[in-house]
Amino acid sequence: MSTQTLPAQSKKPSEIISYDPATGEEIGRAPLSSPENVKEAVGRARAAQPAWARLSFRERGRVILQARKLMLAERDEIARLVSRETGKPVAEALSMEIVPVLDAMHYFAHASANLLRPQKIDIGQYGLMGRSSTIVFRPLGAIGIISPWNFPLATPADEVVMALMAGNAVVLKPSELTPLIALKLGDIFSRAGLPAGLLEIVTGDGSTGASLIDARVDKIMFTGSVATGKRVAEAAAKYLTPVVLELGGKDPMIILEDADIENAARGAVWGAFANAGQACASVERCYVQESIAPEFIEQVVAETRRLKQGQGNEDGVDIGSMSNERQLQIVVDHVNDAEQRGAKVLTGGRRGANPDGLFYEPTVLTNVDHNMTIMRDETFGPVLPVMTFKTEDEAIKLANDSVYGLTASVWTKNIARGQRIAERIEAGTVMVNEVVYTHGIAQTPWGGVKDSGYGRTHGRMGLLELVHPQHIHVNRFSFLPDLWWFRYSSQASNLFGGLAAYFTTGSVVQTSRLLPQIIRRLFGRR
Ligand code: NAD
Repeated sequence: MSTQTLPAQSKKPSEIISYDPATGEEIGRAPLSSPENVKEAVGRARAAQPAWARLSFRERGRVILQARKLMLAERDEIARLVSRETGKPVAEALSMEIVPVLDAMHYFAHASANLLRPQKIDIGQYGLMGRSSTIVFRPLGAIGIISPWNFPLATPADEVVMALMAGNAVVLKPSELTPLIALKLGDIFSRAGLPAGLLEIVTGDGSTGASLIDARVDKIMFTGSVATGKRVAEAAAKYLTPVVLELGGKDPMIILEDADIENAARGAVWGAFANAGQACASVERCYVQESIAPEFIEQVVAETRRLKQGQGNEDGVDIGSMSNERQLQIVVDHVNDAEQRGAKVLTGGRRGANPDGLFYEPTVLTNVDHNMTIMRDETFGPVLPVMTFKTEDEAIKLANDSVYGLTASVWTKNIARGQRIAERIEAGTVMVNEVVYTHGIAQTPWGGVKDSGYGRTHGRMGLLELVHPQHIHVNRFSFLPDLWWFRYSSQASNLFGGLAAYFTTGSVVQTSRLLPQIIRRLFGRR
């Protein structure tokens, strides 16, 4: 049975239906918000935001921490809902969604005041003229968040927390495949005492996302595919609305011959198959040095065969179902294409036995090359293609041979070598002896290069996306005209020539040569 598709209806549906992808059962329904609904939500957000922005960081943090308390108390129920809407194991909903969100709530509730503290700028010799410059960070207003289905709690919740702490209101448009978890998030914040209007949730499909852009929010935080990201950037450009784009990846993992092979194999298996491979930072390409390839591959296959696949709420399940039919079909197509071009399936390589659920077996491929779709396009499923290399330079070249650049990893016991290689890889994050997980660290920036998007979320850089840096410049010598003001004369030109020669060196000693001329210009008649 095909899940996740709306039943045929004669007129435009007014609801979206959420299905459990592991069973095909309906879980619940949410409204399909119209453009009018979205406009009203943005209006409510705009109306509520100024009073919220006037609160101190501590007062805003108190609401976030209250929401955190509720989420912690209700974590099992929330994890079950995440699991039902996506197919992922409950354990994974806890470890990869709820733990990072609780951590981000704690961090941003406490650290935002410091991260957004006004900053004095050293303005060099202008400072000697009684001037000073400070940057204050002001909220943008109403932030539109458009999010995908693969981490339906963690992706939007972290951004909601950051946007609120920065003094903004939020209108969230979750994926049409996972509306219920977003509504649950809204319910938690509302019970935590967040004033009405500050977190509006508009459920619906792509057309609702498009309406959110047309409703002219002050910034769009978009997470999703490259194709949609381009459409979003184009639509937002009409209004000059700034956009952060967190897009797809084809993340490489390089295993050097001096790596801990056993741990690298376990890391590869988790990195490729966690969340059924549906993470933007999943290990999608594995490059192992030729000398250790047989041992590494053997361990990867053995570890993969030990994994238990099943419904997310069953005890001991490591891999759940995939989240939607469309994504599963992409995986089938990529593996078929690879096989037709000579790839070898060492384990997996087919849909799971359960016909109602969207299961795909964890799959390990060898004999792959860069002519195959599986090594070029985002697969976003439980597939680990493994290629070998001879030299470090070759590995780096292969890793960089991609339109994507989200994360990458290098495995070696020689940390200095790992760091050196990391800096030669084109990716927003490069991990040494680690995979995937830094999205879960609230303090570190997350985002990509190349087709993986632009802008950042998380950490100070993420917070800075949600404010505008306002420069406040003060001249304490309010009684003196500036040197460069009217009127001009040959004397003035002489002084300006002197400024060009000496002031611009940044040296007070050099500039002091001009002191008599400066004093004449400041205090004399012009
Ligand atoms: P998607 O692009 O299909 O949809 C993402 C969101 O955009 C959904 O809410 C959707 O309804 C909305 N949308 C669709 N058309 C729109 C339009 N014209 N205007 C505005 N909004 C529109 O992506 P998906 O299939 O939900 O998610 C999977 C993709 O997300 C993968 O490519 C994955 O790599 C990427 N992803 C990236 C990150 C990251 O941090 N870089 C994190 C998670 C997922």
